[in-house]
Amino acid sequence: MQKKHAIETIAAHLGHYDRGAGLSPRLEMSTTYRRNTDNLPMREGRIYGRDHNDTVRHAEDVLAQLEQAHDALLWPSGMAAIASVIRTLRAGQTLLIQSGIYWGTTQWVRRYSARFGIILIEADLANPTTIPDCCPDMVFVETPSNPWLRVTDIEAMKTRFPNAVLVVDSTAATPVLTRPLTLGADLVIHSATKALNGHSDVLAGVVLCAQHSAMWEEIAQERATAGAIIAPQAAWLLLRSLRTLSIRVRQMCENAQNLAEFLMVHEGVEDVFYPGLQHHSQYDLAQRQMQGGQGYLMSVLIKGGRAAALGVLAQLEVFQRATSLGGVESLVEHRHTIEPDTGIPENLLRLSVGIENVQDLIDDFDQALRATHA
Ligand code: PLP
Repeated sequence: MQKKHAIETIAAHLGHYDRGAGLSPRLEMSTTYRRNTDNLPMREGRIYGRDHNDTVRHAEDVLAQLEQAHDALLWPSGMAAIASVIRTLRAGQTLLIQSGIYWGTTQWVRRYSARFGIILIEADLANPTTIPDCCPDMVFVETPSNPWLRVTDIEAMKTRFPNAVLVVDSTAATPVLTRPLTLGADLVIHSATKALNGHSDVLAGVVLCAQHSAMWEEIAQERATAGAIIAPQAAWLLLRSLRTLSIRVRQMCENAQNLAEFLMVHEGVEDVFYPGLQHHSQYDLAQRQMQGGQGYLMSVLIKGGRAAALGVLAQLEVFQRATSLGGVESLVEHRHTIEPDTGIPENLLRLSVGIENVQDLIDDFDQALRATHA
């Protein structure tokens, strides 16, 4: 039996696969496959690009190994991955979803549930006292959550709702820090656009399962027949990025931890939401559930309200003003501009911390805070 390798080795070597003589994975561009004179596929299972592509399959295999999953399916975006799972619910079934998560998910799920008769319950699942007494068919958790950085106890969710399908959006953790399937989740989702790819040049999503099921079959069939297929070039770029996943994520975490500690005691800062800070209400859980770092995402409340937050935003030079997260370059976003009606504080800046020199990041924030509060 082949030895099970650690995540760094799986990522660097892109799993165990028949690579021929080349060290770089092959890019399979064909959309269709030949049949022989008996009209049988020349290679089993190879009929059409919507059903099978070797490069996409390779990326799925590597992702499954990284998450210790039974199987993985890639989608053209994180939202397409999320939608593929939610669409398995039938009218009259109940979806319990964490509140205060990525706004795109909440918005789409609300609209979809209203249209197709899904009973939607939104609750703060990171807080044990606000978990509702109900019997959901599916529980959807995002941990750590974007942009509130709440950490939800995956094992506790499985214990509390043993009969529900437990789905975890682990985009902000990545398999480097947390493997939700080993903690009781049934399905894991990532926006691979974020840290899995990490270079701000691929849109992708992935769904991974703990075991095969009728639901998994339905998700896979829906992809092949409804046609939400990722391009092989995107899967190839994702494979290339995955090779450095663990080293990128660890550096991002280390930078984020240092920056969070610096900002927490800065006179221009009111508060910092980061699970690696001891005053975070789920600090202990985060230490347990996220191994080797508490992530690359944080939110900072700037003293002086909206004007001061926008002032800091304008002064930053290394941090780039752009949406998204998980890339090698640090990004900053004023979330209230994007979602003004969801209770996001007007002085909140969400940061995605990259792999730059950490002192450059600290100095950048320091000069922006000083210039704004001068
Ligand atoms: N999940 C989380 C936590 C996100 O932050 C995002 C996007 O920001 C998504 C899912 C959606 O991913 P995508 O933009 O790839 O569709």
